Amino acid sequence: MTNPGSEADTDVLVVGAGPTGLLLACELALAGVRTTVIDKRAKPHRESRALNLHPRSIELMDMRGLAGRFLDAGRTVPGWQFAVSLKRSLDFTALDTRHPYALLLAQARTEALLVERARELGVEIRRGHEAVALRQYGHGVETDVSGPAGPVTFRSAYAVGCDGGRSLVRQTAGIGFPGTGETMTAVVGDFAVADHAYNEQARRHGVLVARLEAGLTRYVVMDPQRIRVPSTEPVTLEEFRTSLIRVCGSDCAIGEPRWLSRFGNTTRLAESYRCGRVFLAGDAAHIHFPVGAQGLNTGLQDAMNLGWKLAATVHGWAPPGLLDTYHAERHPVGHAVTTGTRAQSLLVELPLTERYAGPARQLCELLDTLLDMEDVNRYLAGRIAALDTVYPPTTPDADPLAGRRMPDIGVTTVSGPTRVYELLHDGRFVLLRFDFGGGKRLQAAAGRSASSDRIRVVGVQEHGVHQDLKDVSEVLIRPDGHIAWATHRRAPHPSL
Ligand SMILES: Cc1cc2nc3c(=O)[nH]c(=O)nc-3n(C[C@H](O)[C@H](O)[C@H](O)COP(=O)(O)OP(=O)(O)OC[C@H]3O[C@@H](n4cnc5c(N)ncnc54)[C@H](O)[C@@H]3O)c2cc1C
Repeated sequence: MTNPGSEADTDVLVVGAGPTGLLLACELALAGVRTTVIDKRAKPHRESRALNLHPRSIELMDMRGLAGRFLDAGRTVPGWQFAVSLKRSLDFTALDTRHPYALLLAQARTEALLVERARELGVEIRRGHEAVALRQYGHGVETDVSGPAGPVTFRSAYAVGCDGGRSLVRQTAGIGFPGTGETMTAVVGDFAVADHAYNEQARRHGVLVARLEAGLTRYVVMDPQRIRVPSTEPVTLEEFRTSLIRVCGSDCAIGEPRWLSRFGNTTRLAESYRCGRVFLAGDAAHIHFPVGAQGLNTGLQDAMNLGWKLAATVHGWAPPGLLDTYHAERHPVGHAVTTGTRAQSLLVELPLTERYAGPARQLCELLDTLLDMEDVNRYLAGRIAALDTVYPPTTPDADPLAGRRMPDIGVTTVSGPTRVYELLHDGRFVLLRFDFGGGKRLQAAAGRSASSDRIRVVGVQEHGVHQDLKDVSEVLIRPDGHIAWATHRRAPHPSL
C-alpha cells in the first residue's frame, strides 16, 4: 500500500459501492476479473433514495440467477406513475416480459443483496476509502485514496467512476457534465406511521405514498409554496407537516422521521462515458429528477453493458473498438432518460404554478386520456421499464435483430426444457441454434462448435414462436442479454 509509496494492483478499480458499482463488480468478478471496490463511506447507507426495480432490471437479475432473491425481498406492483397522472399509472402488465411489474424494494436492500452477491464472487469491498485523485499512465490508472490507515495509491488497468452525481472520477478525468440547473425541489420523508387512514387522501392530492419495509412509509411532497426552496436547505419536521397539510389537508399522522431530505431537478449528462482507461457509470454519468424512478435502474443497466466488455478486454480477446461501444450504446440511453425526465418534470411542475393552473389541468386531463390508450401505455411503459432499449448497429449491414433485447423464451435443449435467461447465468455469450429436430440432432447442433469459457453453444427447439425470432436459425446473445447477431433461414420478417 502506498504511503504514498506502496500500491495495490487490481485489474479494475471501481470507485463507489452504490448499486451501479456493486453490480459492475459482480459482473467483472463473474468473468474472472480481479476487481476492487472502494467507497468513502465507512458503512452502507441506511436510508434509501430509490424504491424500486423496473422490469428490465429484474430481467438482468434473472439473467444471473438472482431474480428470486430480489423478488423475495420486495413487493411487486403492476406499474409506475408517469409524471403527474393521478388517474392511472403506467401499466407494466401490458409489456412482453416474464416480469411485467415494478418491484418495490428499498435501495438499501438492493445494495445489501448486491453486496451479498459480490462477496460470494470474491469481490474485495473496501469501505472508508475515498478516491482523492486519479492519473492515467501508459498501461493503467493510478488512484490516490484516503483510507483508514492513511493514503494509499491503487494501480489498476482500468478505473470506473460509479461515485455518484458529484463524481470525483469524472472531474479528475476532465469529462464535462453539461445540463440544466435546479429550478424545482421536492421533499421526501420516511416515517413509522401507525394510522394509514389518510394515505388515499394524500395520493389523491398528488403526494407519493409508498410503504417501505420495516414498518416505514415514504411520503414525497411537492408543495407549490416550497418548490423554489434550494435542495441545499435542510428540511424540518415542521416544514414537512405544514406542506402535507397544505397539499392534502392532513399531516397523515406522521411521527418522528427516520429520514428527511430535499432533492431537485438538476439534470446533467456526461459528455463522454469514457476517457482512455477511465469510465463512468450510473449517477456519475447522468443525474435527473427522480420522476419515473429511472436513476438506479439506468445505472444497473450501464453496469451490465460495461462489465462484459471490460472483462473481454482484460482477458485479451475483445475486438478493437469494443470498449468504445460502451459510450456509443449507453450515452444515447442516458440522453433519452435525461430528456424524458425533463419532460416529465415539466408536467409535474406546471400544475403547481398558479400561472398555468387552468391550462395545466387540461394538459393533465389530456395525459390521462392518452394513458388510457393501449399503444400509448405500451410505448411509455416500455421506455420507463427500459425494455425498449435497442443499441445502434455496429456495421451498416448488421442484422435488424442486432442490438435488440433478447426475449426470455422457453426452449428445449438436450438437457430438457429451460429458458434463455437461465442459459445466461454464468455470464458467457450464448449461441442458440434453433429447430434442429430434437434428440440426437440437438446434440449434433450443440457439438458442431464447442462451447468454451467465452461462449455456450446450445441447440434448441423453441416452445412456440416469438414474433421477433421468426425465421431465425441462429442467434448470438451477449452476456447482457442483447442480441449480437442472428442468421435467418429466409428473409427477415417484414416487421423487423
Ligand atoms: C429522492 C430520490 C428518490 C429516488 N428514487 C429512485 C427510484 O425510485 N428509482 C430509481 O431508479 N432511482 C431513484 N433515485 C435515483 C437513485 O437513487 C440513484 O440514481 C442511484 O443511487 C445511483 O446509484 P449509483 O450507484 O450510480 O450512485 P450512488 O448511489 O450515489 O453511489 C455512489 C457511491 O459512491 C461513493 N463515493 C462518492 N464519491 C466517492 C469517492 N470520491 N471515493 C469513494 N467513494 C465515493 C458514495 O459514498 C456512494 O456510496 C432517486 C433519487 C432520489 C434523490
